[in-house]
Amino acid sequence: MALPASDLSKQPDNRTTMDLGRVLPCTAEVRDGHLFIGGVDMAELAREEGTALYVFDEADLRWRMEEYLRAFRSRYAQTDVVYASKAFLNKAAVRIADELGLCLDVSGGGELACALSAGFPAERVVMHGNNKTPVELEEAMRAGVGRIVVDSRIELARISEIAGRLGITQGIFMRITPGVEADTHEYIRTGCEDSKFGFTMKDDFAYTCVGTALETPHVHLAGFHCHIGSQIFALHSFREAADVMVGFMARVRDGYGHTVEELDLGGGLGIAYVADDEPPTIDEFAEGTCSAVREACEARDLPLPRLLVEPGRSLVANAGVTLYTVGILKTLPGIRKFVAVDGGMSDNIRTALYHADYEPTLANKADQPRTEIVTLCGKHCESGDAVVVDMPLQKAEVGDIVCVFGTGAYCATMASNYNGQPRPAVVFVRDGEARVTTRRETYEDLYARDL
Ligand SMILES: *Cc1c(COP(=O)(O)O)cnc(C)c1O
Repeated sequence: MALPASDLSKQPDNRTTMDLGRVLPCTAEVRDGHLFIGGVDMAELAREEGTALYVFDEADLRWRMEEYLRAFRSRYAQTDVVYASKAFLNKAAVRIADELGLCLDVSGGGELACALSAGFPAERVVMHGNNKTPVELEEAMRAGVGRIVVDSRIELARISEIAGRLGITQGIFMRITPGVEADTHEYIRTGCEDSKFGFTMKDDFAYTCVGTALETPHVHLAGFHCHIGSQIFALHSFREAADVMVGFMARVRDGYGHTVEELDLGGGLGIAYVADDEPPTIDEFAEGTCSAVREACEARDLPLPRLLVEPGRSLVANAGVTLYTVGILKTLPGIRKFVAVDGGMSDNIRTALYHADYEPTLANKADQPRTEIVTLCGKHCESGDAVVVDMPLQKAEVGDIVCVFGTGAYCATMASNYNGQPRPAVVFVRDGEARVTTRRETYEDLYARDL
């Protein structure tokens, strides 16, 4: 797939790095023309650790986790914040989530294995997936995973069979598609009716299946789950979903005499990828969600359930940046200007996949205005391989260090070895210290599995 044609009328914004506002991790600052994050000079870090490199501002990550806990629990005491590990996962992130008292959402056996190997308590794990294999389900149940989100009738029967064999009662949620259309990109909209996920409410299918679940041995239907999409700015979408879900809980109580004690509203809060994005704050999101659940319960005389939210992107995206080194410059007059970096679709597939936008800066010219419009292309054998299309950048030269903001979510976890590219290391920076939390892949790693 080719790149979209360059918009030649687009003008540089002349912003310097610190003008980029919300996309910056919270400790970003410029000293002597260099970008510092967590008190560490990004240009120097790039030289020491090599590029491409994922860097996380640990203070920013911790702040967002704590802010989620504070914003929800100050309004709704019985809230658990469940870190959606598919957004970003390594052992260091799992340990921070554990230390701060978050729960963890995993979407299969691999993410579960990472969580367990980092010592995360299984009872605080929620397992997702529309087609967890029987092996993955058994791994989860043997480990003692607290909640498994059931996505289909076939899976319900599978879980019951395994739980019976293991002599346990498995706590489950049923994933419901509330039919709420979230105002976001079509490919990441999952709450609408045409979805491979969950039980549809259409024709009372979900309601009928609740009856089946209540009669199924070896499972305990603890609650319902929904996830209406991702990168959502419209708080009313979350409020609508909460109302539909509480309405469903009331219907189950009235019809089956069973009041579930938990409600998991999934993730989906959007973040600023470009400086002009204005997503709701975590605090505004919490206010909207908590008040919607409270009002919906009061209207139906339901006791307040334990509430779970599953943020992924809004916890990690702005904490993370990617560093690259400029290798090649190519100007195609009347077409576009290419700045080629030493990574691309292998470490960030979102641009090729969704035409995602990002703000770049030059870490070693961070105080200079961004006076050119460029496309940051990667090094892969694919015309659509780009990290940034048509965005302002300072005048780049070979050897400059590019920093792309907002890459903390869905980049490392979607990374590939396309063209034999070793996946980047992950470095956490904090208080002037940099620690490698995932080492860079080696060439040997690339063929270590070949027999
Ligand atoms: C992807 C996903 C999340 C996290 O979504 P974000 O948009 O990253 O917050 C949470 N729950 C489920 C079930 C998901 O699939």
